[in-house]
Amino acid sequence: MCQGSVPEYFAFKDSPPDLPPRWLASRFLVAAAEQGDRTLSAEYALSQTAPCPIIDAHVHVFPQKLMDAVWTFFDNFYWPVRYKETYLATRADFLIEQGVRHVVLLVYAHKNGIARDLNKFLSTTVQDMNERYALAHDMDPNLRRRVATGLGTVMPGEPGVKDILAEAFTTFGLSGIKMHSHVQCVAANHPSMDEVYETCIRFQKPILIHAGKEPNSSAYKVDAGKICDASIVEDVLNRFPDLRICVPHLGMNQYQEFFDLLEKYPNLYLDTTMTLGAFFQSMDEDKAMTLMIRTMLLQYSDRIMYGTDWPNIPYDWCRELANLVSLVDGDGEATRVTDTDALLKSARGQKRTAKGEQALERILWRNASEFYSIPAEDLCLPLAKDDGTLQSNL
Ligand SMILES: [Zn+2]
Repeated sequence: MCQGSVPEYFAFKDSPPDLPPRWLASRFLVAAAEQGDRTLSAEYALSQTAPCPIIDAHVHVFPQKLMDAVWTFFDNFYWPVRYKETYLATRADFLIEQGVRHVVLLVYAHKNGIARDLNKFLSTTVQDMNERYALAHDMDPNLRRRVATGLGTVMPGEPGVKDILAEAFTTFGLSGIKMHSHVQCVAANHPSMDEVYETCIRFQKPILIHAGKEPNSSAYKVDAGKICDASIVEDVLNRFPDLRICVPHLGMNQYQEFFDLLEKYPNLYLDTTMTLGAFFQSMDEDKAMTLMIRTMLLQYSDRIMYGTDWPNIPYDWCRELANLVSLVDGDGEATRVTDTDALLKSARGQKRTAKGEQALERILWRNASEFYSIPAEDLCLPLAKDDGTLQSNL
């Protein structure tokens, strides 16, 4: 889909229209808006009272020199990165201020010898962010609020892989690792990955690995279409049944194949990143695919997580969220919504079901909370009741 077809991306760039800036608030947080709490930024205050917290399980940070290189790559071979200036000004604080409760921050190594520094950078970034928001938070002192979790990285086959990962998980307090078959030029079932998986299992940490074929680019050093395939991931799932693996982008462009893998392997998870932004495919035009993704989201709502790829996306960050909500819990028409009143009065509200609401909660935060070990207390949530539901008292 991606290779050699860059203009295709721009077909969706100006259409559909962006969602209203307060869309998130209008969907989840309308009750809080009515209370008129404006003591902190409006979005921050609203996020505190959201009935359904949101974890963005796929957010990129890098030391700036590396991020500049990533952006140059994206600008040349993928799409214009929309949130460069916002990232430079606020980092992932932006998402928290928009009402996202917690972010999972990622780095990945593209060569030997840089993983330790990246992991250290990430650890500091996570710590700084959490301290900043802990200070801003003056609610019940028994409730702690953490806004960020980090996933470290390592280059497969580099000297000291096990030590680098052990350091990431212990000294740096990172909650898992992020690997990228396209950038690292290593197939998920390459023998050099075995010690990576074994160390993750030893420390009971999950792995997020871009092992699907897309988004791909001819500019990569390898043909990612060849070293990535659902069958390669299946090989790993078979050989490491104790390893918890998340494949981003819902396995794009092998949705059906990954759908089938979810059925067979309980240790497989997927994240939604960029699949619902109406950028790679229009939800309206390819109804069959939209329906298939909707089925996947509902059927496996216990193993799919919401993520955005922020800041390296070309569209309004909440467009994907809008489409996700619409697909799981509505009529699949979110990208057409242009004003909040219409949204609140729309047929989607009437189509909401308890099943859809529960699936949405799992996809928006519960699964990421479990997969990346983010305690409910860190999200400022009370502990679960006996029936597993949470009662928001904030
Ligand atoms: Zn990503």
